[in-house]
Amino acid sequence: MKRMEVLLPRPFDRGFDYLVPQGMDIAVGDYVRVPFGSKPMIGVVWGEATSDVPAQKCKNISEHFDHLPPMSDAMRRFIDWTAAYTLAPRGMVLKMTMPQAEGVMQPQLQTLLCWNADAPVPSQPKRAAVAQWLVEHGAATREDVKRETGASDAIIRAMVLANMIEVISQVAAPSVQHFGDHHAPKLNESQQLASANLRETIGQGFSVTLMDGVTGSGKTEVYFDWIEQQLNNLAASNVVSGIPSFPQRRESLSPLVQSVTEIPASGASAFAGMTQQKMPQADSQILVMLPEIALTNQWVQRFEKRFGAAAVVWHSTITPAQRRQQWQAIANGSARVVVGARSSLYLPYKKLVGIVVDEEHEPSYKQEDGVSYQARDMAVVRAKLENIPIILATATPSIETMRNVQLGKYQRVTLGERFARPEGVALELIDLRIDKPEKGEWLSPTLKRAMKEVLEQGAQVLLFLNRKGYAPLVLCRHCGYRFECPNCSAWMVQYKQSPRLQCHHCHTSMKMPDACPACQEPDQLVACGPGVERIDEEVRALFPTCNVRCVSGDDTDVQDTLNAMIDGRADIIIGTQLLAKGHHFPKLALVGVVDADLGLAGGDLRACERTYQLLHQLAGRAGREVAAGRAMLQTVQPDHPVMQALKAADRDGFLAAEMSQREQAGWPPYGRLAALLLDGANEQRVQQAARHLVQQAPRINGLRVLGPAPAPLSRLKNQYRFRILIKTPLDFALQKTLREWLARVPMPSGVRLKVDIDPYQFL
Ligand SMILES: [Zn+2]
Ligand SMILES: [Zn+2]
Repeated sequence: MKRMEVLLPRPFDRGFDYLVPQGMDIAVGDYVRVPFGSKPMIGVVWGEATSDVPAQKCKNISEHFDHLPPMSDAMRRFIDWTAAYTLAPRGMVLKMTMPQAEGVMQPQLQTLLCWNADAPVPSQPKRAAVAQWLVEHGAATREDVKRETGASDAIIRAMVLANMIEVISQVAAPSVQHFGDHHAPKLNESQQLASANLRETIGQGFSVTLMDGVTGSGKTEVYFDWIEQQLNNLAASNVVSGIPSFPQRRESLSPLVQSVTEIPASGASAFAGMTQQKMPQADSQILVMLPEIALTNQWVQRFEKRFGAAAVVWHSTITPAQRRQQWQAIANGSARVVVGARSSLYLPYKKLVGIVVDEEHEPSYKQEDGVSYQARDMAVVRAKLENIPIILATATPSIETMRNVQLGKYQRVTLGERFARPEGVALELIDLRIDKPEKGEWLSPTLKRAMKEVLEQGAQVLLFLNRKGYAPLVLCRHCGYRFECPNCSAWMVQYKQSPRLQCHHCHTSMKMPDACPACQEPDQLVACGPGVERIDEEVRALFPTCNVRCVSGDDTDVQDTLNAMIDGRADIIIGTQLLAKGHHFPKLALVGVVDADLGLAGGDLRACERTYQLLHQLAGRAGREVAAGRAMLQTVQPDHPVMQALKAADRDGFLAAEMSQREQAGWPPYGRLAALLLDGANEQRVQQAARHLVQQAPRINGLRVLGPAPAPLSRLKNQYRFRILIKTPLDFALQKTLREWLARVPMPSGVRLKVDIDPYQFL
């Protein structure tokens, strides 16, 4: 009997061998159900069996999901590649591609009506019409029958009862996402130029292009145009077969671009003669990745308006039925344009032809839990394996991406005036050491004055502070007691609602007591420092007649608040970094940053880069449609290079300085990093294991092992944490060295080890 290796979504790097029963047609990539331990499990056929397990010990494959297309070669290679790079077991990477496998893989059944050939032809005219239509068209959905024949539910029910109509259930045919009438906006000169450059990547295999455009320069429209061209690429056979697909756009193309979009005759002739309906543009698929799926509403609306059809939105809060429908549409190619956060990268697209990573610099592309990966970087890998173009779009490119541009690995397309501030936003630094807020307040007199002016003109204000809740710390004025989380080495954050204290790491929550738990003195507890709720309190007292909204990221009505800002119902919005991401607030004239220095503390290697990006993006929210936008940054270190670069709008100068510092120190992207995080309930045990691991480190030129040291967050959910940092030159075989080293030193029981290649978090 034939044997195959089946990879299972379990923490194993290898698959297991199973026998292929007689009569079952199994090929590599097929989804199958196999017995595993005491229960059945869904996996993917990974290859011919190679192990020497005796045949009598192998079990049979029990089911072949033949309604699903097999997982593509490129996808399987992508899983292998991710596992090898991140040091995660292949099974765990596979698991990311089939979330809730049992649910998503069941065939989607459709209820259809068909004419019972043995039944007599009805005489009643309405019934006769239904009968005739069904005979002509075969099985059809109830909706189709009703629409086409005008029959009511009652008539159909009666015909079913009379056995004239049979009700059957069958696997639903995929319905291909179709893009119909749409409204392509006229691109400005700069957009047209960028667009022409991007189009040259289409159909040319793998390439990476950084689309570097200032905030408000219309990057989205440019990549929408690219998506349209991609979807039309195979349909360019229209030129041959005479079926126009998007005629209204064609005339605006330059002759050069036209020649690029026309595919070779061989490809075109394959489609010649097919009708447009039967040619669902060759199931080519585009993936657009956004940093946070919660913020996609505006994007989705924009897409729908532009393309006349919705994109498929992949996220975690959909119903199981929707998940199954979407997953299958992605796997069978009927979903044409998919938008999602980082997890959408690991879906089994049938035929990807292009990827867009929007806001490529966003740190949230780094997945920290489970398999830890940088989704932007992995998207580039996937594009390489699929041999397709990828676009990285941003106004503030990451240093990693800039380095690749310098090295000539990525192309760059610029949009708008690169050296200009975000669309004429005047950026001012407020030196908090001179321009001091009143006692117990957090907004300086200058910022308050500017807010008043803007509000009097009927425009809007955004205040930013990257701290949730009311205050980051509560202490006792009498004895100095500080509220610390019982499970973590972190302060409890005060919330005004209820009122309560909460840990941001483990979400432990407690009621705010009246008296100090240490000295029992009543009325001695004071809030230290501001969170957004405290700024909200200050602003409401200052502008009692204004509509003030506060978004802290915990709120379920974030979308409503954002909408209030978009349609002008809100005057002032206060919030955390949720506000920095891609929102378009037409009437926003002033952005105030309450504590611009906040992100610089902590000393992680990307602190300056992130602070620059965040503040730059925020400033770009102001003045998008109103005449003059202003951004004011409150700081106690106005001479800091980040603040000076922001003030001078010298992005490239900042990047150059930051890159040269990284180069000197050998930090990424000029060197490689990996973090080893050990944790466990017994502090000593964890520490000993960490020390032992370091002692056992191989002595190889170039390998530097830093630590172990207690993690900055030394206790999390009652687990003690120690960190080891591995630093190597670029050309070092990091994964191979780590794999061999870690295999030699097994962890003692009660201690877990997590490997993080290219770490972004150092907590
Ligand atoms: Zn006390
Ligand atoms: Zn906690």
